Amino acid sequence: MNVLQPWNAVFLVGFVAYLGIRSKYARGAQRTQKIHRQIDWLEKSLLLLVIPSSTLLPILYLFTPLLSLADYRLPDFAPWCGTAVMLAALWLFWRSHADLGQNWSVSLEMRKGHQLVKHGVYRSIRHPMYASIWLWGIAQALLLPNWLAGWSALTTFAPMYLLRTPREERMMCKHFGEDYRNYMQQTGRLWPRRNREP
Ligand code: SAH
Repeated sequence: MNVLQPWNAVFLVGFVAYLGIRSKYARGAQRTQKIHRQIDWLEKSLLLLVIPSSTLLPILYLFTPLLSLADYRLPDFAPWCGTAVMLAALWLFWRSHADLGQNWSVSLEMRKGHQLVKHGVYRSIRHPMYASIWLWGIAQALLLPNWLAGWSALTTFAPMYLLRTPREERMMCKHFGEDYRNYMQQTGRLWPRRNREP
């Protein structure tokens, strides 16, 4: 079983931590009522693409021989880099959930008393959670030497990121108006922008 190999075990520990962070904060946010939902066919299709493929394929790879036809070799340094990127991804994933708190949703939603979060990791980046998912996808590709399991997070998250982010920003502009437009000027999408205000 692949999971008995050390680097695969490292990935599994990170994967459990990743799912643990998500479920802890998802439970917390459930208590707040939703006042606006923008979950149309596009949003549903994106969620249906990302969630099963980025969770089931790694599990199949780790615990069954079903994906072994798609195995390949990675250079020896790759899993070391993968582990470093995974730690960065987990830290950013945790901080973005903690900073967003009750305002978090798995989809495009606004909650009762929704606050525009501009502190913590949201101070200089508008989409730190999406940045952490990109990092997670890179870590997965560096740790799992398999065309299907290794690349499943990156290839399915790419269309979600490209299609959802402009829609999310439009929704936030509609809800917060000038406040969000100013926030957009002061922040980078995925990469920190230095705030030029005094
Ligand atoms: N795009 C953000 C948040 C992802 S969670 C990130 O990558 O960090 C998606 C939900 O978060 C959206 O439905 C929206 O309601 C909410 N959201 C996004 N940015 C926010 C912000 N700065 N403050 C409060 N809520 C935000």
